[in-house]
Amino acid sequence: MSKILIIHTGGTIGMTKTADGYKPDGEYFRNLIFHMEDLKAETMPDWDFVEVLPLLDSSRMGVREWNNVARIIAENNEKYDGFVILHGTDTMAYTASALSFMLKGLRKPVILTGSQIPVCEVRSDGRENLIASMLIAGEARVKEVCIYFGGMLLRGNRTTKYSALGMRAFKSPNYPELATAGISIQYNEAAFLKDTGEAFVFRPFNDVPIGVVKIFPGFRFDLFESMLTEKLKGVVVETFGSGNIPDDNGFLIPMLEKAEKNDVVFVVCSQCPQASVDMNAYEAGSALKKAGALSGRDMTSEAAVTKLYYLFSVCPDVSRIKELMETDLCGELSL
Ligand code: ASP
Repeated sequence: MSKILIIHTGGTIGMTKTADGYKPDGEYFRNLIFHMEDLKAETMPDWDFVEVLPLLDSSRMGVREWNNVARIIAENNEKYDGFVILHGTDTMAYTASALSFMLKGLRKPVILTGSQIPVCEVRSDGRENLIASMLIAGEARVKEVCIYFGGMLLRGNRTTKYSALGMRAFKSPNYPELATAGISIQYNEAAFLKDTGEAFVFRPFNDVPIGVVKIFPGFRFDLFESMLTEKLKGVVVETFGSGNIPDDNGFLIPMLEKAEKNDVVFVVCSQCPQASVDMNAYEAGSALKKAGALSGRDMTSEAAVTKLYYLFSVCPDVSRIKELMETDLCGELSL
């Protein structure tokens, strides 16, 4: 029988109501999970449970929490066949992306899940999400970091939170689903991450200064330029469509030159969830390319941001970081 570790980090799934709104409630959730008859069924994997304290609303999670979760997995790697991480939906796509880089070479299922309605409410989607995630982790057919939510198993570093209302909270706009859970769980093996034979080495992230900028009509590059000091290591710029940006006031090129001079890595992503950046497609994107901006291709902003954290934590050479930013490291971009 396979054995998995459930890691509770917080999020709606284990929250209860307070006068200020829903809040993580470790004791409530612990009692509930240890008494859930379904989790003792013969068809379920054997499981242990651990909490990452303090339990948090995921909007409060960041580098320190990502490192803590990854460390638990790295330290318990030999003991378990798979891992289920209970997590808030707000930043689940960021954590999933971060873990995909940190846990490169792990070759085990790491399934993040949570719920839109807490398990303390009768209509909660948490039970199904938890049970299916445990089965997928126990089966260990898919050996990568994924999000399971609302009947879909998605590659973690391809996901983005799409809905704060519906039960299908996540989408993977540029990559197919890894599995769908209907009457049975149907795996799409062709989409699984290919094993590169890379050895697993846990590499925690440093707290790297990174920015994300969303372009809009009327964007004032002159104001943004003041951000591009040598303190900033990387910026993800969410441009229009396939990498287009307005440049009617002549500020763009000097700004990019300043970024280059200060060794700021400038990555171009798209505001369209379903897109792949091609700075050659339109004249309006060509200036970015000429000035040395990197193409994020079809990466989500979540993947681009966490990849910058990863690369600046493991690689001292900026020109190598730039090269790797445009390279597929663990299924986060299509070449
Ligand atoms: N605010 C919650 C969180 O991200 C939302 C959720 O879990 O759905 O922790």
